[in-house]
Amino acid sequence: MIDFELSEEQRLIQATARDFAREVLQPQARNRDRDQLFPAAELRRLAALGLLGVNVPQSLGGSEAGAVAYALAMMELASGCAATTVAVAVTNMVSEIIVKYGSEAQQHEHVPRLQNGEHVCGAFALSEPHTGSDAAALKTSAARVGDGWIVNGSKQWITSGDHSGVLVVWARTSPAGGARGLSAFLVKAGTPGLFIGKHEDKMGLRGSTTVPLTFEDMKLPADALLGREGDGFKIAMEALDGGRIGVASQAYGIGRAALQAATSYARERKAFGNPLAEFQAIQWMLADSATELEAARLLVLRGAWLKEHGQPFTREASMGKVYASEAAWRACDRALQIHGGNGYVREYDVERHLRDVRVTRIYEGTSEVQRIVIARTLLREFGIQ
Ligand SMILES: Cc1cc2nc3c(=O)[nH]c(=O)nc-3n(C[C@H](O)[C@H](O)[C@H](O)COP(=O)(O)OP(=O)(O)OC[C@H]3O[C@@H](n4cnc5c(N)ncnc54)[C@H](O)[C@@H]3O)c2cc1C
Repeated sequence: MIDFELSEEQRLIQATARDFAREVLQPQARNRDRDQLFPAAELRRLAALGLLGVNVPQSLGGSEAGAVAYALAMMELASGCAATTVAVAVTNMVSEIIVKYGSEAQQHEHVPRLQNGEHVCGAFALSEPHTGSDAAALKTSAARVGDGWIVNGSKQWITSGDHSGVLVVWARTSPAGGARGLSAFLVKAGTPGLFIGKHEDKMGLRGSTTVPLTFEDMKLPADALLGREGDGFKIAMEALDGGRIGVASQAYGIGRAALQAATSYARERKAFGNPLAEFQAIQWMLADSATELEAARLLVLRGAWLKEHGQPFTREASMGKVYASEAAWRACDRALQIHGGNGYVREYDVERHLRDVRVTRIYEGTSEVQRIVIARTLLREFGIQ
C-alpha cells in the first residue's frame, strides 16, 4: 500500500516548524550569515517547541514522532535558516547515538538535556585534519589508564564543537589498523585536556560554528565509552546513515526556499515589457527545479519511512542525500540565474542559498562516497561482491 498522507502528528510538527522558520528564523537569516551569529537563543526556542527531539523517545524528553516527522521538520526549518538546521541535525544524531548505544546513566544524564536546550546542542567529532571520507584511518587515540582513558589527538570541522554541552568523540582504542580498532566516547564540554580551536571562515552556513578540537592527555572515566570497545566504526556508520536523511532534508529545504524566491522574482521583474515568468526559458527552469525537488522530497521521505519502520535504509539514505543535495544545488543555481545581476549580491537571499547548499554535497559523506555506498549495495544485491 502506498500512502502519501501525513499523520496528524506529522502535519502538526511540520506546521510548527514552518511557522517557526517563517516567523523567527527567516527574518534573521541574512544578518546571521553576514555577522556569523550562532543561533543559541533559537536553539533554545526550538527545544521548547519539542523540535530538538522529534525522533527521540518521550521517556528521555523527546517528542517520539519518528524519522519522517524529523525529516519534515528539517525541511521546513532549513527553508528559513540553513545555518540553524546544521546544529539541529547534529544534535539529533548525537541524541540518537546515545539512545541506541548509551548506558541508562548516559541516556538519563544527556538526552533530556539535549532536548530541553540545557546542552544547547551536541557535537559529532569524527573527521580529522588528515582524513574525512576514510574515517577508519583516524589517528586520535584513547589508551586505558587505571580505570579510565587518556585521549590524545585532534579533530577537524566539528560543527557546534564550541557550543555543545556534550560531544561524541571517536578514537582508536586498539593499534589494530582500520575500522575494528575504533571506539566512541561521550565527552562533556569543559573536560580538562579538550581544547577548541579557531572558527573556520566558511563559504556558507556562516551562522553555524565549525571548529578544530585538540585533545591533550584528556582524561575520561571508564563509563565515557559508548557501546562496547571496538564498536566505534559501526556506531559512526549507523549514525551517518540517519544523519544523511537530515542533510538531505536540509538541502531540500534550502532548494525550496530558492525556488520560492525565484518564482516571486520572476512574477515581479519585467524584461522586454513582460514579467520574466512569461518567458518559456524561465518557466522551464522553474519547472525543472520544482520537479527535481519533489523527486528529492519523496526519495528522502522514503529513506526516513524505512528507518522509522525498522527496515534497512542505508542505500535509500545515500540516494536521498546525493540526489537532494545535487537537485537543491541546481535549484539554487537556477534561482540565482533568474535573478540576473541581483542574484549575485547580498541584498537578495539566493546567493546565500547557493553558498549554504554547497556543503550538503560534502559533509556526512561526499557525493562520491554516497555513490560508493549505493553501488556497493547494488553489487551485493546482484551477488558481485
Ligand atoms: C561545514 C562543515 C561541517 C562539518 N561538520 C562535521 C562534523 O560536525 N563532524 C565531523 O566529524 N565532520 C564534519 N565535517 C567534515 C566532513 O564530513 C568532511 O569534510 C567530508 O566527510 C569529506 O572529508 P574530507 O574533507 O577529508 O575530504 P577527503 O576525504 O579528503 O576527500 C576529498 C575529495 O576526494 C573524494 N574522495 C575521497 N575518497 C574517494 C574515493 N574512494 N573515491 C572517489 N572519490 C573520493 C571526496 O569525495 C572529495 O571530493 C564538516 C565539514 C564541513 C565543510
